[in-house]
Amino acid sequence: APLVGNLIGEDHVNYVLMYNMLTGIRIGVSRCGAKIKRPLTPEDFMARHKFSFDIVGNELTPSAKYDFKFKDYAPWVFRYLREDIFHLDPADYLLSLTAKYILSELGSPGKSGSFFYFSRDYRFIIKTIRHSEHKFLLSILERYYEHVKANPHTLLSRFYGLHRVKLPRGRKIHFVIMNNLFPAHKDVHETYDLKGSTVGREYPEEKAAKNPRAVLKDLNWINRGNMLELGPEKRALLTEQLRRDEEFLKSIQVMDYSLLVGIHNMQRGNRENVRKNTLKVFSPDLPEPRRSKASQAGSKSPEAIAMRRAMRSSDPKRLGKHTVRLPEEDTGDRQEFVFYQDEGGLRATDDNNEPMNVIYYLGVIDILTPYTFVKKLEHCWKGMSADRHKISPVPPVEYGNRFFAFMKAVMRGGEGGEKFKEHVKRE
Ligand code: ATP
Ligand code: CA
Ligand code: CA
Repeated sequence: APLVGNLIGEDHVNYVLMYNMLTGIRIGVSRCGAKIKRPLTPEDFMARHKFSFDIVGNELTPSAKYDFKFKDYAPWVFRYLREDIFHLDPADYLLSLTAKYILSELGSPGKSGSFFYFSRDYRFIIKTIRHSEHKFLLSILERYYEHVKANPHTLLSRFYGLHRVKLPRGRKIHFVIMNNLFPAHKDVHETYDLKGSTVGREYPEEKAAKNPRAVLKDLNWINRGNMLELGPEKRALLTEQLRRDEEFLKSIQVMDYSLLVGIHNMQRGNRENVRKNTLKVFSPDLPEPRRSKASQAGSKSPEAIAMRRAMRSSDPKRLGKHTVRLPEEDTGDRQEFVFYQDEGGLRATDDNNEPMNVIYYLGVIDILTPYTFVKKLEHCWKGMSADRHKISPVPPVEYGNRFFAFMKAVMRGGEGGEKFKEHVKRE
């Protein structure tokens, strides 16, 4: 459900980091966005732009509250991903991430130690990632770009940016910006993180009863007798897209990813009024870009002018359609995509393709773990047998096949349901 996590105020331990991330994004993204669009070149996939922030400011970077360095990776590629492939409005993107409304932090929900932050309107997630994941994403960026370009309805995580913040004492924090699969305007009544494995894949049901926001796993799904209710049409579309995404994941040799499933029951509706909470959000007071000579002499394209105006403005009224509020319904980017077009998700249908009162929010997440990396981890754990079961490293092709078999089996009427049950019995 929306607005989980803690809002980050100035006294929060990660306030400075958050401030630096947002300031860097704001300057990096707007700088690239203000340029006239040109075709991508192979060099764009290798490009890195560095920014140095300090309390004084200079021609390139406005003054900031803290000293830090910011690195923007492949900015043109991510601009194309955002604008041409994932249909984000550039001004919306910047405002969501950097308007004067603070992020909320989900802390570290996984075992990996990553932190998750939501944009103030809940549309975007910033996830801190390991250096190895960062390097890996750069190494597959061109293939990822080609895949999502050829598959606009992909279920894979949508990466909108890859950045690094370096703090004065040298600590480097890598992070990606991606889509929040869950909607701002709908309660998610049940959440599942499904991998197609049963080993250690159960969230205790006693705890789940007390915590409706718990992320449940494969065995909870199976034991509760859940099924994705999708009529023949949607089932065929989803199966085909998952098959293609799966082929891609096998080709880049990753594993440990999962299908995230959020279930909204339309009869239960919404318990909380999300918007009421949102406007109480604390203001972090991001720096106003200084009207330096450089920026005055910048591009005069209408696009750039509008962007700069939007960037400078912190007053919702001055932002025209970009007012600071949560969307009541998903218009905009999600409408473009088959699996996200029903109120930001995929509405259940019956055997005759007639709508049912459930909306699913689906996506394949955590796709940056190459097999070699997991093998190394496993190696470290040798002798710590208690931890061994937490991960069941199988090679990417086997992982992918098992994952895809399970995903077909979780759809009512999907292929392979019986076969999968046998497989589960054997495991
Ligand atoms: P681990 O490697 O231990 O699995 P991680 O830190 O890599 O953990 P993820 O698996 O990416 O984390 O995500 C952890 C949880 O955060 C997910 O189970 C889900 O509840 C939530 N989450 C992650 N990505 C998204 C997303 N794009 N939209 C909504 N929720 C998400
Ligand atoms: Ca995971
Ligand atoms: Ca992970």
